[in-house]
Amino acid sequence: MSAAPGPESAGESNAVPIAEFSLIQRHFTRPSGAAGGVVLGIGDDCALLEVPAGQQLAVTIDTLVEGVHFFPGSDPQALGHKALAVSLSDLAAMGADPVWATLGLTLPRVDDAWLAAFSRGLFMLADRYRLQLVGGDTTRGPLSITLQCHGLVPRGSAITRSGASPGDGIWVSGSPGEAALALATRRDELTLAADWQQHLDQRLDRPDPRVGQGLALRGIASAAIDLSDGLLADLGHILERSAVGARVDGLALPLSPALAQLSPAQARGLVLQGGDDYELCITVPERREAQMRVLDGFGVPWTRIGEITEAEGLQCIDADGAPMPLPVGFQHFPNTDSGA
Ligand code: ADP
Ligand code: MG
Repeated sequence: MSAAPGPESAGESNAVPIAEFSLIQRHFTRPSGAAGGVVLGIGDDCALLEVPAGQQLAVTIDTLVEGVHFFPGSDPQALGHKALAVSLSDLAAMGADPVWATLGLTLPRVDDAWLAAFSRGLFMLADRYRLQLVGGDTTRGPLSITLQCHGLVPRGSAITRSGASPGDGIWVSGSPGEAALALATRRDELTLAADWQQHLDQRLDRPDPRVGQGLALRGIASAAIDLSDGLLADLGHILERSAVGARVDGLALPLSPALAQLSPAQARGLVLQGGDDYELCITVPERREAQMRVLDGFGVPWTRIGEITEAEGLQCIDADGAPMPLPVGFQHFPNTDSGA
């Protein structure tokens, strides 16, 4: 277990008692053998993993905190899915093939039913990619879930944020904005007909990471990012790392049937600013656009929303080519802001 007892705990260890620990192991230990490069999995002090020759390891980690990233009392099976999905989405954005994961769990109590549902959600998604859970850590405290994912990518072929060039097309997968729409309906800030709710809940609670598409885009996309903070903010990261600008065609933004229930301006606001979608935003040189056919088999639409420009900054234009006002408070390069 990780933390030493803090001053407030007056010597009482925060380690989960050993009888309960076996329960945790029961939910997370599965027979693995030495498949997929796992020389030694859960049960020792470390996992031992073999990275195949010629491959690079892509590593990403994300934490979900109760009350911050999800509502208290959320369905544990959906949480297991989402915790893994947000990490897999990062691997997808690099063109990395998921192989291993480690899990840091902080639990207020050991609850057998909760753990069973959580691990079911996690393993159902993991099994789709033959990803193996090879270790983790368990402590007692306010509910928080940390997932670290490891992926493999042939040396030199990862898709980074820094490869976009002027003239490249900007493309997004699926329907960004729907997760924010789901959140707004759940908070009663917006009301849609009840038959949209199931679709929207799915989009917010069980995002489908674009892993296959990320792999297919190696050698095609010049840059990629997954949409966690909103299209404008995340595209901004590509622009910053690639030292380029972008012209986004406001009327080309994909408005799904659910989003089309709103006014066009309101819908576009969600597409541009909504977070938590885990779609991909990529740039593709014109000469490679035809190769995007490889994406057809995934059943997710891709939309060309604009192009990369030499002039830095991000412009959103309307039908007449006039600049549309960007949402108030939008920063072109949120990470390089002086006072931040
Ligand atoms: P140590 O104190 O040596 O870190 P632990 O008692 O924390 O060992 O863990 C024992 C084994 O169980 C390790 O292999 C660890 O990776 C694994 N483990 C602990 N918690 C989890 C978890 N939440 N998910 C997966 N594996 C876990
Ligand atoms: Mg440990």
